[in-house]
Amino acid sequence: KSPVPADIDVAQAATVVPIRTVAAACGLTEADYEPYGHYKAKVSEKVSEKLKAERGEGYYVVVAGINPTPLGEGKSTTTIGLAQAMGAHLEKNCVACIRQPSMGPTFGIKGGAAGGGYSQVIPMEEMNLHLTGDIHAIGAANNLLAAAIDARVFHELTQKDEALYDRLCPRKKDGTRVFAASMLKRLRKLGIDKTDPDQLTAEERAAFARLDIDREKISWRRVVDMNDRFLRKITVGQNPTEKGYTRETGFDITVASEIMAVLAMTTSLADMERRLGAMVVAPDMKGEPVTADDLGITGALVALMKDAIKPTLMQTLEGTPVLVHAGPFANIASGNSSIIADQIGRAMVGAGGYVLTEAGFGADIGLEKFMNLKCRSSGMKPHCAVIVATVRALKLHGGGPAVSPGKPLPHEYTNEDVELVKKGVANLTRHIENTKKFGVPVVVAMNMFPTDTEAEHAVIKEAAMVAGADDCVLCTHHAEGGKGAAALGEAVAKACEANAGADNFRLLYEGETSIKHKIETIAKELYRADGVSYSEQAEAKIAMFTEQGFGALPICMAKTQYSFSHDADLKGAPTGFTLPIGDVRCSAGAGFIVPLVGAFPTIPGLPTRPAYYEIGVDMETEQVLGL
Ligand code: ADP
Repeated sequence: KSPVPADIDVAQAATVVPIRTVAAACGLTEADYEPYGHYKAKVSEKVSEKLKAERGEGYYVVVAGINPTPLGEGKSTTTIGLAQAMGAHLEKNCVACIRQPSMGPTFGIKGGAAGGGYSQVIPMEEMNLHLTGDIHAIGAANNLLAAAIDARVFHELTQKDEALYDRLCPRKKDGTRVFAASMLKRLRKLGIDKTDPDQLTAEERAAFARLDIDREKISWRRVVDMNDRFLRKITVGQNPTEKGYTRETGFDITVASEIMAVLAMTTSLADMERRLGAMVVAPDMKGEPVTADDLGITGALVALMKDAIKPTLMQTLEGTPVLVHAGPFANIASGNSSIIADQIGRAMVGAGGYVLTEAGFGADIGLEKFMNLKCRSSGMKPHCAVIVATVRALKLHGGGPAVSPGKPLPHEYTNEDVELVKKGVANLTRHIENTKKFGVPVVVAMNMFPTDTEAEHAVIKEAAMVAGADDCVLCTHHAEGGKGAAALGEAVAKACEANAGADNFRLLYEGETSIKHKIETIAKELYRADGVSYSEQAEAKIAMFTEQGFGALPICMAKTQYSFSHDADLKGAPTGFTLPIGDVRCSAGAGFIVPLVGAFPTIPGLPTRPAYYEIGVDMETEQVLGL
């Protein structure tokens, strides 16, 4: 049993420094941020330009992992431990950029995501529950758009052209018509260069009033930030007031919303407005994409999202600054911290400092998206990648029995089993080889658990070095805090400095090739599939998106995190499989095509014994318990 108390007990025993003190220590002025309570502050997205001019930019380090077990392998814990090591022990300027936890897993299977043991972000209750409301804002914006689509389709189905136009542009008492500025984009898209709604011809009025959405093909779904499996497929419009216009649709988890992806990829409020407006909700009856701009809703979406664009400043247990932004779920979403947070972080630490940014799950998905989506869009190039590995996950890859949260670990995991590690280490080897394809040095972090043995670590280290890692370091930050990751920090600093002037970074594919070619490049080069198969639906969508002009967008795969393949049970380094693409979505605003590998659910479910059984509030102290 680990001598380390439960995560929440460690976190609640800590002294939290007022966020103003943390901000001042980073050289932020009061105008640069807005406090949200005592221990959190939203940092203006505008500070990066100013600070960059003054201080330059820090090294850029991405933290990724091997394919995890359902328990998590301590990627967040290692990101925080490494930040504590660099900030509090190696005397470097350091900021960790991590993602806001989703409440789905917090109450569901895995629990929170503020790190663990003596490497955590505090206050962890605030981090794991509502934080500063970004995910709520995304839910509101997403569902406003969903409501707008169904209402608009209903109004178009139940009204004639002229009546529709009269309602959209009603006459004032003086006889002139009201016309909202948000309607101009639609007019311009139709090629109508008029601003007086009375100047439109009857034909133009009809074209303006009818979006003619193909209601069978509406792709925009509703979202909720809970693991609610019964919402995966639903029928809406069943009340008689909707006159029988029912429709099948479904929910995704909020963090998988395209609006979360927009938040992760955007660089300014103006850029966010452009991206939100470009989001496609459905084709019209002619197959042309209908966007948020067509619905005149973009301004309202920006109004809901204007505070969410600012990352939230928090602190580690050892006082290192942390920027929390964007969302998890690198399987069904992009699952990386935001470009804005990384830019602010790099400018905050200045030249010679370090930004550690977390990429979700295994390097096959989180890190691949970090490189091919995030770095492609931002132009930033990482100086080093850290890959977090654990003995227990490698044992699972070597053929160990299944592990699940809440159940005791089978003896293979609690006793030494060098053979199992030897068999499983192929998973790590492949992640190292893959990461090196991007031209980035790799440092492996062995996240030490109390049941690990030296012989098991030796196997991992040898395999990592043979696979081409620059270093492989044992770390004990869960039990010891930043001190336990100091050696890792030194290895990362060495790799960054050695790579500072080099220009080896490369992306895996060019945007300007076909959607299928890009999917196949990722499948063959990184997953090591023999090939890719497409369902009829996937073929039709790829043809439609290409026809609509979205063929040059990069790819955001939705795939299980448990295997390089589509099949969660294919552990280790599987080969000889064909990757099945079941469906394809287009996130035109975020800027990517999303192939769904297999029939992949985009909202998780609750297990029989969810984490919520443990969670409550102490009536005396009003502290949250059991997170
Ligand atoms: P990930 O980011 O990979 O999903 P987390 O960092 O959230 O994983 O860690 C998952 C859980 O595992 C947390 O409860 C954390 O306290 C625990 N954990 C992480 N590292 C260790 C370790 N070295 N020893 C014991 N428990 C650990």
